[in-house]
Amino acid sequence: MKIAVIKGDGIGPEVVDEAVKVLNAISKKYECNFEYKEVLMGGAAIDKVGEPLPKETIEVCKNSDAVLLGAVGGPKWDNVPRNLRPEAGLLKIRKELQVFANLRPAIMFPQMKDASPLKEGILGDSLDLMIVRELTGGIYFGDKDRIDIEQGQKAWDIMSYSTPEIARIAKVAFKIADKRNKHITLVDKANVLENSRLWREVVSAISKEHEDIKIDYMYVDNAAMQLIRNPKQFDVILTGNMFGDILSDEASMLTGSLGMLPSASIGKNKIGLYEPIHGSAPDIAGEDKANPIATIMSIAMMLRFSFDMEEAAKDIENAVSKILEKGYRTLDIMEEGMIKVGTQKMGELISQNIK
Ligand code: NAD
Repeated sequence: MKIAVIKGDGIGPEVVDEAVKVLNAISKKYECNFEYKEVLMGGAAIDKVGEPLPKETIEVCKNSDAVLLGAVGGPKWDNVPRNLRPEAGLLKIRKELQVFANLRPAIMFPQMKDASPLKEGILGDSLDLMIVRELTGGIYFGDKDRIDIEQGQKAWDIMSYSTPEIARIAKVAFKIADKRNKHITLVDKANVLENSRLWREVVSAISKEHEDIKIDYMYVDNAAMQLIRNPKQFDVILTGNMFGDILSDEASMLTGSLGMLPSASIGKNKIGLYEPIHGSAPDIAGEDKANPIATIMSIAMMLRFSFDMEEAAKDIENAVSKILEKGYRTLDIMEEGMIKVGTQKMGELISQNIK
């Protein structure tokens, strides 16, 4: 099983190292071989070869079975030209690998319920919702530019979606909902945007082939509010690129910390891209303070979706749960009476619990 490893910038290398430790523990337990190939992307690539996504990285990723990514970006590269920014590399690799479906679970471990900023009565003991976000279209990939005008400048970013783009992500959402609680909420802005009206038509047509799955439609402003008011009403949230980006960060906070949530990006090919939903956290980089759990949980998704190793994926989720149960916490999820540990110690504890 070939895995391309992109450590990236900021806390990226720190959290990826811990995830690899856990993968090695899985490899030992299941006597299987993961072959890692490290490649550059983001600021690290800009510094070394002058561009955020070198050709070699694309090739290695395309020749792998899965890609493990830390995070890219940071203030050091904030002022480089737009097409050379670290984030441009991230958008391009998603497009190159054609991973159009971004799966972002928001799962709260019962042991973490006090870390959620919501009142206990709202969340109860647990939360388990899945955001299915379109990843390679919409406003982030549309034509964008600026022109000078008399009073300054004018800028635009075009948002467009086609029927096939919407249909393929909708089908992923229906497949996932079928294995969960059979309820999809399509989040859009159909009262204002033509794009959203097309999404509703396409999703509604597909829903006729899945009559056992309940489908609701909700405006994004309402969804942002409902996620705080009553998050348990959601099972699968299906949405476009930008709304999914924003709502999944909001959903992550319900569970306590950005540092807890994994993501998987899958598409037409068998190659999946696995990464935590957080960024490079330059404010804590290099200090052994980052929470590696989001990246470690991304490995669980890799085993589940790319390697069909469900039991191994569960081993990782159980090991994380066990360590939280024992009271170990990184700084971002620290609470009174718990045991504070750094990035490396957290990775070590979780890998030791893969048995
Ligand atoms: P961020 O996610 O990096 O950090 C937001 C806050 O959450 C910070 O206070 C940070 O310390 C904290 N945090 C994030 N991950 C954590 C972890 N694992 N453990 C503990 N605390 C954690 O978002 P930002 O500050 O908006 O962005 C920083 C840089 O990351 C920017 O350059 C941005 O473009 C980039 N970014 C990259 C990705 C990606 O690579 N997929 C995603 C988002 C942002």
